[in-house]
Amino acid sequence: MKLLPIIALLAAAAGAQAQDAGTVINGIYPQLDAVYKDLHAHPEIAFQETRTAARLAAEMRKIGFEVTEKVGKTGVVALYKNGPGPLVLVRTEMDGLPMDEKSGLPYASKNGAAHSCGHDVHMTAWLGAARTLVTLKSQWRGTLMFIGQPAEETVAGAKAMLDDGLFKRFGKPDYAFALHSWPLAYGTIGYNSGAVSSNSDAIEITFKGRGGHGSAPDKALDPIAIAARFVVDVQTVISREKDPKEFGVVTIGAIHGGTVGNIIPDTVKVRGTIRSYSPAVREKLLAGVRRVANAAAAMADAPAPDVELIAGGAAIDNDDALVTRTEGVLKKAFGDANVARMPAMTASEDFSQYINQGVPGMFFFTGVYAPDVVAAADKGGKPVAFNHSPYYAPVPEPSIKTAAQAMTLAVMNVMSK
Ligand SMILES: [Zn+2]
Ligand SMILES: [Zn+2]
Repeated sequence: MKLLPIIALLAAAAGAQAQDAGTVINGIYPQLDAVYKDLHAHPEIAFQETRTAARLAAEMRKIGFEVTEKVGKTGVVALYKNGPGPLVLVRTEMDGLPMDEKSGLPYASKNGAAHSCGHDVHMTAWLGAARTLVTLKSQWRGTLMFIGQPAEETVAGAKAMLDDGLFKRFGKPDYAFALHSWPLAYGTIGYNSGAVSSNSDAIEITFKGRGGHGSAPDKALDPIAIAARFVVDVQTVISREKDPKEFGVVTIGAIHGGTVGNIIPDTVKVRGTIRSYSPAVREKLLAGVRRVANAAAAMADAPAPDVELIAGGAAIDNDDALVTRTEGVLKKAFGDANVARMPAMTASEDFSQYINQGVPGMFFFTGVYAPDVVAAADKGGKPVAFNHSPYYAPVPEPSIKTAAQAMTLAVMNVMSK
């Protein structure tokens, strides 16, 4: 078994033309598996990915990339120049989540953080694609820009890398790719044109009243009643103002005010999240939330509330031409039945930051669970663990191989001679 990768490399040296990405990845898989289990067992949370970044940097130098570390705090930029041609960005995220893993796997994390969003799958597939592309370098031309991004979970890492001059120091890419593991069957790939993730904005509102005795509401101004009216009325922005064919969500996830039953408090704090795909819907929801908050206070003749609507991640807008161009090679490699367009996810992702600099990009999803397990869950059987679950446990080999091969093919397709 240990000889396999060497044989694969020798074969690559002997005749790269005859090689395809799948064969190369099969050959190097044992090393990828070791990296995966090491990364999985040692997750680090947003902007603390120092061990992770050092490992990625070392692996990329071994493959022959020119590596710069500490771009955007803990980010890694790895370049591989292979003649004139396009500059292509391939992004992986590096951060784990601040939660305990409960998968029971022999290589489970025990350090209080967990790779329960599959960023370890992405990093390993990223390394696998880098190595495969270098092995097959006679088949493409241009420069690879592989980046290890910190802090995707806090939607801050892409901005940190761009603010640190990612495109100014290393060049503005002609294309950008990223993938995300998703609870689909392994061996399958999902994607779409246009929006594939949501705009995310946070709601932070403080309703102001005047505290007093619970038995004498006329001597006070009750912010609990104002906040309660807001929480109910704000949903009419969704049901009565937004185009019902368009996606949009307002969720109030926290409401804090008061201490005991017979005291009217001074203030009530309300927190929530707004999600949308299109910029027009986003603007409508932001304006609606603000207006309903002000109106709820005005109805009680209370002072205007402090309304903060904090911009989070923008929706990822996949480039239609790039998606169409990539779709063909993925279908050829994995079969029509395993490669399909899918609805956008309602979660947010900061890969949008690169695309919004004017770089045509494609973000796609790759499966991680056994097909029969996913099929049983779809028929109402035992549900599969979703991303961010403490039980999230991709099956490493088929998940990593699919992801690495799909990324290699997508990149080669835009760089082929
Ligand atoms: Zn996540
Ligand atoms: Zn993620």
